[in-house]
Amino acid sequence: MTDNQTAATRRIASPASSTHVKYIAFILVVFIALSTFHLLFTWKNYNQEAEQEAIILAQSLEAMIHPEHLAELSGSPGDMEKIEYTLIKNDLIRLVQTTNQIRFAYVLGLRDDHLTILADSEDPDSVDYAPPGLLYTEADPILRDPFQSGQSVLTPPYTDRWGSWVSALVPVVHQDTSQIISVFAIDFSTAEWRAHLYRQMIPDVMIVVFMFALLMIIFYVWKQKTTLKQMSQVLAYEEALYRNMFSQAPIGVALVKGCHFVSQTIHGSPGINPMGEKILGRSNEALGSITWPDITYPDDLPSNLKQFEQFESGLVDGYTLEKRFIKPDGSIVWTDIHVSRLRGLPDEQDLHLLLIEDITAFKKEEQKLIESERSKSVMLSNLPGMAYRCHYDQDWTMQFVSNGCLELTGYHADQLIANRKISYNQIIKPEYRDMLFQEWAKVTTERKPFRKEYEITTAAGESKWVYELGEAIYNDTGAVEALAGIILDISDRKSAENQLRFAAEHDLWTGLYNRSHLELILNRDAHLPLREKRAVIGINLSSMYALSLSYGFSYSQTVLRKITGRLSRHSHQNRILFSSYEYRYVFYVKGYRGRDELESFCDTIAGEISPILGSERLGGGIGVLEIDESNRSDVEMMLKNVLLATEIAMKSEEADVRVQFFDLSLAEQIRREENIERELVDISNDTASDRLYLLFQPVLDLKKDKICGFEALARLNSQYYGLVPPNEFIPIAEKSKLIIQLGDVIIFKALQFLKKLQSQGLGHVSVSINISAIQLLRADFSKNLIDKITRWRINPANVGLELTESIFASNYDEINRIVRSLREIGMKILIDDFGTGYSSLAREHEIYANCLKIDKHFIDKLLDASPDKAITSDIIAMGHKLGHSVIAEGVEYESQMQYLKDHGCDMIQGYLISKPLQEDLAIERMNQYNNGVDC
Ligand code: C2E
Ligand code: CA
Ligand code: CA
Repeated sequence: MTDNQTAATRRIASPASSTHVKYIAFILVVFIALSTFHLLFTWKNYNQEAEQEAIILAQSLEAMIHPEHLAELSGSPGDMEKIEYTLIKNDLIRLVQTTNQIRFAYVLGLRDDHLTILADSEDPDSVDYAPPGLLYTEADPILRDPFQSGQSVLTPPYTDRWGSWVSALVPVVHQDTSQIISVFAIDFSTAEWRAHLYRQMIPDVMIVVFMFALLMIIFYVWKQKTTLKQMSQVLAYEEALYRNMFSQAPIGVALVKGCHFVSQTIHGSPGINPMGEKILGRSNEALGSITWPDITYPDDLPSNLKQFEQFESGLVDGYTLEKRFIKPDGSIVWTDIHVSRLRGLPDEQDLHLLLIEDITAFKKEEQKLIESERSKSVMLSNLPGMAYRCHYDQDWTMQFVSNGCLELTGYHADQLIANRKISYNQIIKPEYRDMLFQEWAKVTTERKPFRKEYEITTAAGESKWVYELGEAIYNDTGAVEALAGIILDISDRKSAENQLRFAAEHDLWTGLYNRSHLELILNRDAHLPLREKRAVIGINLSSMYALSLSYGFSYSQTVLRKITGRLSRHSHQNRILFSSYEYRYVFYVKGYRGRDELESFCDTIAGEISPILGSERLGGGIGVLEIDESNRSDVEMMLKNVLLATEIAMKSEEADVRVQFFDLSLAEQIRREENIERELVDISNDTASDRLYLLFQPVLDLKKDKICGFEALARLNSQYYGLVPPNEFIPIAEKSKLIIQLGDVIIFKALQFLKKLQSQGLGHVSVSINISAIQLLRADFSKNLIDKITRWRINPANVGLELTESIFASNYDEINRIVRSLREIGMKILIDDFGTGYSSLAREHEIYANCLKIDKHFIDKLLDASPDKAITSDIIAMGHKLGHSVIAEGVEYESQMQYLKDHGCDMIQGYLISKPLQEDLAIERMNQYNNGVDC
C-alpha cells in the first residue's frame, strides 16, 4: 500500500463503518447462538440415541439371562458354587467379549436393602473381579432406581472403585411373580462413551466450523468491498478537492522538471493551474515550450540559478525566493516562489512543485512604504525642528525625538528621551507651561489637533520661538496613549512677523504707532464703559508739507523727527502717541482728571513744537476731542472731527500753534461747511446762478498813475449765511474739487467782464483771474481757456492768471509746461501771494511768469519802522532782475504807496485805490481815477 492509500484507509473511520461492525457482530452472535444450539441439540440427540441404543442393547442382552437362574442366587459368596451362578457368569463373560462397547456386564441384587453384586463378567483373576455378594455401596443410589421404578435406565456418568462409567440398567422380572429380582447392568467406560459421542459430533462441528469460516469469508469480502468503495469515495473526494484547489487556488501552482515547465502530466492533466497562467501571463501550452530562466527578470536570475543548483544537487530540499517574471507584454510581475520536490508519486519522475504568489501589489505597497519612509526620513532630517512622541504627562516625557532635536534645543535626542538629562517641560519657558498643558487638555477632550506657538530656552540659554503641531493617540478604550507631532523653529518667521507687525503698526519714518493701530485700539476701546475719561488730541503739522516742497523731503523729515522726538517724550501708557496721517499726529489720552489737565497738556505740546515750527515760519494746530457717550462708538467720525478741530486751529494767520477743542460750535462750523459745499454743488450745476458772482479790484500802474486792470475776486451769496468770503468757500470748493466747475463759471464771468470793457472802448485793460492748482492741472485746462479766448475774440494779453507760488513747487515741470503754452499766446501769468510760500528763490528765475504779486504781509511791514522793510524792496529788485513786473497787494496807506513808488514797484492794488467792486462800479472807478476825478 502506498502512503496515500494508507492515509485514505485510515481516514475510513466513518460512522457508517461502525454501523457495519455492529451488524457483523450481531450476525456473528446470532450465528454462534444458532451453532451452539444446533450442536447442543445434535449432542442431545446423539446422547439420547446412544442411551436408547445402550438400553436396547442392555434389554436385548438381558433376554439372554435366565431369570430362573437369577432367582437361585442369594447374593452371597456361596453362590459361586451354584451352577446358575456359573451359567450366568459365563453368559456375562461371553456377552462382554462379543459386544465391543461394553466394558463390564453384571447383575445386581438388592439384599437387605443393599445393592449387592450377584454376578459379573470378570474373570475371578482380574483385578476388576467382583465376587458374588459384594456390596456395591458407592453406586447406590444411582443404580437403585430400576429396582424401584421397574424401568430400564441409563445412568449419568459416575465413578466407582473400578473407574468412571455410564451404565445401562435393565430390571429382571420373575416370570411367575413379576417381581424384580435383580437388575442387569452393562457398563460403558465414560471416556469411551463420550469419545463415541464426540466422534458422532465431528461432522456437525465440521459443518458449523465450515459455516463459520464461510461467514468469515463473506464478511471479509464484504468488508473489503466496503473499504474499497469508501476508499474510492475518499479518492474521488480528494481528487475533487485537489482539482478545485488546483484550479481555484489563489496562488499559482506549476510542475517543473529541471528548467522546464511541465504543461501536461503523463496522465494528461494540466501541469500549471489557471492562477499560475494568470500570474505568468502565459498559457499552459506557451509555458510548455519555454524554460523558467527565459522569463525570469535578468537581475534576479543569478541568485535564482544558484538556489536551483543547490536544490538540484540535493543540498537543500527546497527554496523560497522573491523574484520577477517578465510577462509577454514586457511588464514585470513580482512573485514569491516556493520550490519543493514533488513527493508521493508512484513512479519517480523528478518533478518539482513550484508555488507562485503574485506580490506585485505588495511590492508596490512596499515600494510606496519605502518611498514614504524615505520621504519621512528626508522630511525628518530636513525638518526645521523635530518630530516627537511623548507620554501625556507633566514632563512631556519623550519616547521618541528626531535628530533635529539637537539643532532645535541644543540637547541630544538621548538626553531628552525618558527625561534622561532634562524633560521637555523644562525646556519650555515657564510662562507658557500652564497654558500648554491646558491647551492639550482641551484638544484631547475635543479630539482636535494641537497648534500652539511658544518659546523655549535652548541648552545654550538662547530663546527660540517654536510652533508645535501635534495630536493625541488614543487606545481602544479611548484613553490618551501618547502625544505625537512636530515642533518647528519659527524664530526667523517670528522676528519677520514682529518686523511686519511693527511695520503694520508703526509709521516708518517716525517709529510711532500708525493710524491703523490707532483705529484698532480706538475700536477695541469703543465699547468699554467710560469709567475713566478718554480723549484724542490731534496735532496737525500739515504746514510742513510746504516745507517739504521747498526744501526737499529729507529736510522736512529731519524737522519732523525733531518734533515727533519731542512729542514722544510725553507718550506713555495712558497717553500714546500715533502718527495718524501725513504730518498729523494723535495722542490717545486715558484717565485724565478734567479739561484743565487736557488744556495744560495741549499747552505742553504746543510749547514743545512751537519753537521748531516758528523757526520755520510755520504754524500748527492742536485739536482736542473728548470721548463721550455720543461719539465713542464711531471711531472714523471721531478721527475726522479731531482732524477738523486741528484744521480750524490752524486757520490762524499767525505762525503759531493754537488749540481747538472740538465742541458744538465746531460741529456747527462743520455743518456750515457742509451746507456751503451743498450750495456750491447747486451752483456748479447752474451756471446762470448769480449766487456766485465776481467783484473786481482795480490795479494801479504806479508809473503811469493809471488803473490798468482789475483782479477778479469771487463772492458767494449764500441762501443760509449771506455773504460768504472766498477764504471760506474756496478751500471748501478745492477740497471737494468743485473748484473745477466753479472755476469755469468764474473764468466765464471774468471773460464776460473783459468783453464788456472791450465793448466800452477799454480794450487795453486787463483782468486777472485767480486759479487754483487743481484747476490748472486739469489736462484740458489750457486748451479750453485758449479756445474760449479765441472764440470770444479777447486779446490774450488782457487775461492774467494768478497762481500761488506753491503751485509751482508741487509739480514744477508740469506747471511750467502749461504756463508756457498759455504764455505762448500772450496771456499773463502772475505769481500770487509771493513771499509767503516756500518756493526756492534760487528756482524763481526758472518760473515762466510775467509778474510777482507781493503779499500783503510784506506791505503791512512797510508801516513799521522795522528794518524788515528792506525785504520788500529786495523782492521788487529781484522780480525786476528776473524780468518780472511787480504788483504790491493790500496797499492801504499813502506811505506804503510812496515807499513802493520810491523802490520802483510797478503796480499796486489795495483799499487805498479801491475795494473790490461790482462790474459797473469798477469801470466807473477806473474812469474817474484815470480821468483825474479822484474821490
Ligand atoms: P488774493 O488773491 O490775495 O486776493 C486779494 C485779497 O485781498 C482779496 O480778498 C481782496 O479783497 C483783499 N484786499 C485787497 N486790497 C486790500 C487791502 O488794501 N486791505 C485788505 N485788508 N484786504 C485787501 P478776498 O476777495 O476776500 O479774497 C481772498 C482770497 O480768495 C484771494 O486772495 C484769493 O486767494 C481767493 N480768491 C478770491 N476770488 C477767487 C477766485 O475767483 N478764484 C480763486 N481760485 N481764488 C479766489
Ligand atoms: Ca489774487
Ligand atoms: Ca494775493
